Amino acid sequence: MVKITFLGAAGEVTGSCFLLESSKYKILVDCGIFQGREIHELNYGSFKFDPREIDFLLLTHAHLDHCGLIPKLVREGFVGRIFSTKPTKDLYSLVINDAAFIEKEENRSLRTLYDSASISKSISLFDSVDYLQKIYIDDSLSFEFKNAGHIMGSASISVYIDGVSILFSGDLGPSNPLILDNGYGRYGGSYDYVVIESTYGNTAHDSRSADISSLKNIIIDTVNKGGNILIPSFAVERSQELLFIINSLIRNKELFNIPIFFEGRESLKFLNLMNKYSYLLSKNIQDMIKRGEHPFHFNNIEYVQENERSSLISANAGGIIKKDRRYKYQTKIVIAGSGMCTGGRILSHLKKNITAQRNVIIFVGYLAQGTLGREISDGAKSIYVDGRSYRVRAKHYKFSGFSDHGDKDDLLLFLSKLNSVPKGIFCVHSEVNISSNFKNEIVKKFDTSVNIPSIGDLFILK
Ligand SMILES: [Zn+2]
Repeated sequence: MVKITFLGAAGEVTGSCFLLESSKYKILVDCGIFQGREIHELNYGSFKFDPREIDFLLLTHAHLDHCGLIPKLVREGFVGRIFSTKPTKDLYSLVINDAAFIEKEENRSLRTLYDSASISKSISLFDSVDYLQKIYIDDSLSFEFKNAGHIMGSASISVYIDGVSILFSGDLGPSNPLILDNGYGRYGGSYDYVVIESTYGNTAHDSRSADISSLKNIIIDTVNKGGNILIPSFAVERSQELLFIINSLIRNKELFNIPIFFEGRESLKFLNLMNKYSYLLSKNIQDMIKRGEHPFHFNNIEYVQENERSSLISANAGGIIKKDRRYKYQTKIVIAGSGMCTGGRILSHLKKNITAQRNVIIFVGYLAQGTLGREISDGAKSIYVDGRSYRVRAKHYKFSGFSDHGDKDDLLLFLSKLNSVPKGIFCVHSEVNISSNFKNEIVKKFDTSVNIPSIGDLFILK
């Protein structure tokens, strides 16, 4: 018998975790944290399986909602092997250490998700692989990672277990990624079942060129008014896309020298990883790097690693880079995590900037229900941060054109590129109304059964 249990990202976007079982093996695909005020509590509950019995963990990519509970899994007895791509292993190490640091700084309760022993042990359990390298465990189990074009190292994973084939899409990038290579390995193949993310299963992203032009106008307008620009963003990928866009505006002389602060204790290490794995970037970006025009590392940018430096930057508009004389005021662009404003340095920048009308907050990623970012974006008049209330007077904008997720058409394209229609599709990683819409879209196009699992749902695949 082969069965799958949906333990997270089922009826919501975060907490990805699927348990696949045969008579011989227990395999987890992803082990992520739940993000959002109400569901955050789920991170502290016990696993719905015995971590000691899990043989393998297959990790699609290094976003926290896919990998953030791995240290807890290890702490509770997991000693199996973790398979991921090489960039994912490197990114995991940065992301998880950063999360542990933030937890230490912000967590006022005694409960912790992270401790250094479990983190080190988890890193030692990784076996990193290349895209399209077939991992053969035995006659009953093999798997393969395919480029998902979402963030560096991200993968869809095909698993063959006891004669059943299942494709886990992982998070899927857009079909026209801005800085990554075009997810060339992700299409094709025949599978009995597909577990597909559907974050944007009911929407078409705005056109990226329209978004770039609006972003440019907002930045110029805000700078002219002496406002600051805050961009809450995950450290991985989308931030680099924004830097690429801002850099091209500067190179085209559409923007002058505004100081740009790329926040994050590990920010320079992220940059180094982009360089280490630059062969996974688009040809255009690779050529720029070869010409010495680094798209993520240019004159006006400061990678802010130290907390003290960050506090100084959030306290005033001053940076080490002098304001351009073409502008009347000294302003700044700050890119800081977390993208959904659930924690991290963006909070201190929000506290300093959100009450003034001249400032602007630009959201470029998905905002899960129950997160501070979503509250602001939905038009909250005031917000609470660290127990204090702040009036929202800064303007805020939300763009979908820079998303590192595919939109509805991209997701359908992903399915249509398969060599045959699977006998079952599971829509995960989205809010229920969105996956219901996406289900309707799939059913219109493909003759197959589509399920929207809830947390805890178990399906017999064979
Ligand atoms: Zn992701």
